[in-house]
Amino acid sequence: MKTTMELLKARDLHEKEFHQAVQEVVETVQPVMDRNPQYRQNAVLERIIEPERVIMFRVPWMDDQGQVHVNRGFRIEMNSAIGPYKGGLRFHPSVNLSILKFLAFEQVFKNALTTLSMGGGKGGSDFDPKGKSDNEVMRFCQSFMAELFRHIGPDTDVPAGDIGVGAREIGYLFGMYKKLRNEFTGVLTGKSLGWGGSLIRPEATGYGSVYFAAEMLATRNENLEGKICLVSGTGNVAQFTTEKILELGGKVVTLSDSTGYIYDEEGIDAGKLAFVKRLKNIQRGRIKEYTEKYVKSVYKEVEPEQEYNPLWNHKADCAFPSATENEINPKDALNLINNGVNLVCEGANMPSTPEAINVFVDKKILYAPGKASNAGGVAVSGLEMAQNSMRLNWPAEEVDRRLKMIMKNIHQTCLDAAADYNEPGNYMAGANIAGFSKVVNAMLDQGLV
Ligand code: NDP
Repeated sequence: MKTTMELLKARDLHEKEFHQAVQEVVETVQPVMDRNPQYRQNAVLERIIEPERVIMFRVPWMDDQGQVHVNRGFRIEMNSAIGPYKGGLRFHPSVNLSILKFLAFEQVFKNALTTLSMGGGKGGSDFDPKGKSDNEVMRFCQSFMAELFRHIGPDTDVPAGDIGVGAREIGYLFGMYKKLRNEFTGVLTGKSLGWGGSLIRPEATGYGSVYFAAEMLATRNENLEGKICLVSGTGNVAQFTTEKILELGGKVVTLSDSTGYIYDEEGIDAGKLAFVKRLKNIQRGRIKEYTEKYVKSVYKEVEPEQEYNPLWNHKADCAFPSATENEINPKDALNLINNGVNLVCEGANMPSTPEAINVFVDKKILYAPGKASNAGGVAVSGLEMAQNSMRLNWPAEEVDRRLKMIMKNIHQTCLDAAADYNEPGNYMAGANIAGFSKVVNAMLDQGLV
């Protein structure tokens, strides 16, 4: 009989990111399969790796010069065993079926870990918002939603933002959904505050990741005070990760975008972070401009196929990869450890390659997989859905308190599940085992559907 991975590779030959995400889970849940013979009988692995539904569609739109362009739109409705499909939309030229299936698959386990009632999904387009005018972005979002609206709804599938989809895009998408359906419901999360958004949602992924890191450090009687931290990315997750690290007394010395990174030995303080937020969120500039203002810092370009990324080769205590998938290879992992890093907390989804993860696990450093440590974003999206259904808004302190509690619980759940399966301290095994068990038990309760 073919193994799960053989079946997957035969069916989806070129989906390498999806294979990578599935392989990690399949390997770590083998002991769970062995302990529960009914899982094999019910083919739970084969069922959980097959999306419930894949929607793929044409997105035609017109630029400011009257030229028509065509992009491809996707929504992967991966698993609804524990709630409506939930997961972000990514607009980036690299988007394809493999990347979205890997993200949707990870999302299933992440959402299960939050304890909220959310299934897993992901979607997006190969549209590149970079360099487009607001009107072009609006026309694209409207065309995208003109198809997507028939597949989503507040009790069916609730998309949110991801790379390239922030408050501006969510606004245009929501406006079109409302017009087409003639209803004002919590169909998208990450909305602006004035019309249904939740306080702390923009901050949630970054803050949550740092809360998770603080929990990991506490197991070794340490905290973030005085720790030197490497952060990658300059988007939503990187900005609020940096903000929370500063608040807890740490020092952030790097940030990056898709062309390169800056190193500021003196540390990126609150004033410098405010500059970065303006640069990225309003002026939509490049991180290189940081060095023109803060002249003691340095900028280095990074080629995608470089042997190692110099960002991960600086003296530091902690690393928070918060840009994109596969940004840490095994050489980077060794560089991190040789430079003193003993905590890697993933803000991005799957930023470490499987070989890099093996290095972290072998060296027994504190390593948190994104599906656990970046779950704060979707958790607060879940809280936004709850507030929308009640038609009320909780104050920031209340949302932040719940976020902190959820991250603490996820941390404990990972440790407990890992210990139960003889993998003490292995957060990756713990996250996979706990998320998997919850989802497959719900699937079995609901019969063969
Ligand atoms: P943003 O679009 O706000 O920022 C993405 C950042 O990553 C930008 O700095 C971007 O640079 C950089 N980047 C994008 N692609 C690449 C690449 N191929 N190589 C190097 N850098 C790149 O996205 P988010 O901050 O929201 O998302 C970052 C990561 O966090 C993603 O993996 C996402 O899936 C994950 N995540 C996000 C959540 C959220 O709530 N937003 C929730 C959970 C996970 P540039 O400016 O040049 O494009």
